[in-house]
Amino acid sequence: MKRLTRNHSIFAMDKQNQPVLYVDSGERFIVETEDCFCHQIVESDDVLNDSFDYSRVNPATGPIFVNGCQPGDTLKVTIHKIEVESRGVVEVYPGWGPLGNKVEKAETKIVSISEGWAKFGKYLLPLHPMVGVMGVAPAGEAVLCVSPGPHGGNLDTVNIAEGAEIYLPVFVSGAKLALGDVHAIMGDGEICGTGVEIRAEVEMKVEICENWQLSNPVVKTKESYFFIGSGKTFEEAIQIAAEESVKFIQERNNISWTEAYMMTSIATDLLFSQVVNPLKTVRIRIPRKIIDE
Ligand code: CA
Ligand code: ZN
Repeated sequence: MKRLTRNHSIFAMDKQNQPVLYVDSGERFIVETEDCFCHQIVESDDVLNDSFDYSRVNPATGPIFVNGCQPGDTLKVTIHKIEVESRGVVEVYPGWGPLGNKVEKAETKIVSISEGWAKFGKYLLPLHPMVGVMGVAPAGEAVLCVSPGPHGGNLDTVNIAEGAEIYLPVFVSGAKLALGDVHAIMGDGEICGTGVEIRAEVEMKVEICENWQLSNPVVKTKESYFFIGSGKTFEEAIQIAAEESVKFIQERNNISWTEAYMMTSIATDLLFSQVVNPLKTVRIRIPRKIIDE
């Protein structure tokens, strides 16, 4: 199995980036990811201070060129396994998150990982590794890896985890996929600005999916579809996710737009993904059992 090492980092999703790995549709491979601070914060007295290099945050490993993948296709990414290292960090910083005005200084908490648990102080929390950043090169200008968008990016969506399929619209030849920012655990919203930030190895597969055209990322799990929307405001993000969800229900179930809008209202859930990135991200959970598959 091919392995892409974490020294191949990018800080922006950019069509100009040179591919560092070529894979075929259906191929399984391993990607090593760097943590969101480029491993500059590994002890509890490491914090975001004057010696911290702010140009090295939110890296993604890649880009990965998917042979034969063309603009207009959809890229399906299956996450088979996420293996995290034994230590991660949680960070607070003045201004981060809805209560950032109450944070007086940067502080770091080390979280140790073992046997399916994350140890935060005396509290054992069940591990749920997820990929914070996953995206393809956008059509136009480069987008920093810290931002989410229609191309994916910093979606910070807890369902981008083992067993999930992530569907991304493709804008450039080869898709130019990149990923990083794994969290050992994170809650919906990522309220203080970080999850348990950690290095990881992700075993995954990519496939070219020609018969489903998307304009924003979608995640599919055993039970649900998640339609993701990111926007400058929550209203904007919600509108994108709702638009896509209603269209999907209408088309798959072959019902009217109005019926699909009603069904979205009575049988799906609007959830927060993250409230801390340059654009805000929400998702609508559609139970697979209400979709004709
Ligand atoms: Ca993130
Ligand atoms: Zn992160």
